[in-house]
Amino acid sequence: MTTATQIDNASTLNHYGLHQSILPSNDGLYGEFGGKIAHPELARAMNEIEKGFREVIKSTDFINEMKRLRETYVGRPSPIYHAKRLSEHCGGAQIYLKREDLNHTGAHKINHCLGEVLLAKKLGKTKVIAETGAGQHGVALATAAALMGVECEIHMGVVDIAKEHPNVSRMKILGAKIVPVSEGAGTLKEAVDSAFATYLGELDSSMFAIGSVVGPAPYPEMVSYFQSVVGHEAREQFLATTGKLPSKVVACVGGGSNAIGLFSGFLADDDVEKVGVEPAGKGLDTPDHAATMTLGVKGEIHGFKCYVLLDDKGEPAPVHSIASGLDYPGIGPQHSHLRDSNLATYESATDSECLEAFMALSRLEGIIPALESAHAIAHAMKIAKDMSAEETILVNLSGRGDKDIDFVLDKVDL
Ligand SMILES: *Cc1c(COP(=O)(O)O)cnc(C)c1O
Repeated sequence: MTTATQIDNASTLNHYGLHQSILPSNDGLYGEFGGKIAHPELARAMNEIEKGFREVIKSTDFINEMKRLRETYVGRPSPIYHAKRLSEHCGGAQIYLKREDLNHTGAHKINHCLGEVLLAKKLGKTKVIAETGAGQHGVALATAAALMGVECEIHMGVVDIAKEHPNVSRMKILGAKIVPVSEGAGTLKEAVDSAFATYLGELDSSMFAIGSVVGPAPYPEMVSYFQSVVGHEAREQFLATTGKLPSKVVACVGGGSNAIGLFSGFLADDDVEKVGVEPAGKGLDTPDHAATMTLGVKGEIHGFKCYVLLDDKGEPAPVHSIASGLDYPGIGPQHSHLRDSNLATYESATDSECLEAFMALSRLEGIIPALESAHAIAHAMKIAKDMSAEETILVNLSGRGDKDIDFVLDKVDL
């Protein structure tokens, strides 16, 4: 049954709607995770961004502009959909989807990119800089930058450029400048280093735009604030449709932005179980996975403390997932803290379970999910059959799978 306290959770949220469990200390820490950058020049730039962020979230103009763009540009609120045929197929709990795949640009990343570029403009910056791996963050950022008339520079490894051609073309058409990075393995890690090096030379005129709830303060807090719209919408919609709260909310976890977005609507609801799903890749007993929470240790990556997968030399390990958006050896500090506080649990799904879920959702519901999101679907399918028909699972469908269709056709026999 729904109680009054379930419906009114506003009292435990701070003035901009984030629950205390995912708010940082003055040092940018969530428990022992997170932190601020030590480099003096960068620290000054981070402080400027943090100060700007704290100002804009109190500004009615900024909030109204975000609201207008969410409604008229992104197409929010994204619907909640009852996946009846998928639920029937699994037998057991009823599965619902939060349709972030229906946003403009096809995923949740536009939620924080709009916020970051709006903030950059308010700070008087003329350019945003970022790295991208598979190109999803690059495309969302280039979109927001085109919309707001801000320059956009995307650093991308040469190996990724060759692999992710459609996204490279999209970014170019949207007017972004692509900087190919050929150092080292020519992938995400080198792209981060290269983007930061450029940023250091342009701290006054540019803003770095991180693509998930990772990095030094204030990024995890800022990105989760921009993504929290997902959870707040979802909670209201779920109550309105079913009269109850979901038994479990499930989301895939790379850096953790779509998961924090969904969870943040339900952190005050102790009865709602929060589950993050990491990529188990070719299996947890192989070296080819990115199961940071399941097999990682406490460590440091890209200027913040979190759970992280390390190699024998103590460096962030090369990791694998069929979904390139989940292919990261670290995880956001808020998730690291939520797990250690037993406020959320983290499970994993393998490449093959992900492919199965990808096909099941496509064939049973006519919805082609992103391979990233298919990890969350895979986990929901796994647990639904052991739950009762009165119970419900709300899955964040973080993105659409058009980008993945050729890859999947290569892998499955149709
Ligand atoms: C980038 C991406 C992810 C992973 O990023 P998070 O920060 O963990 O949400 C998940 N789903 C889609 C569709 C993505 O593009």
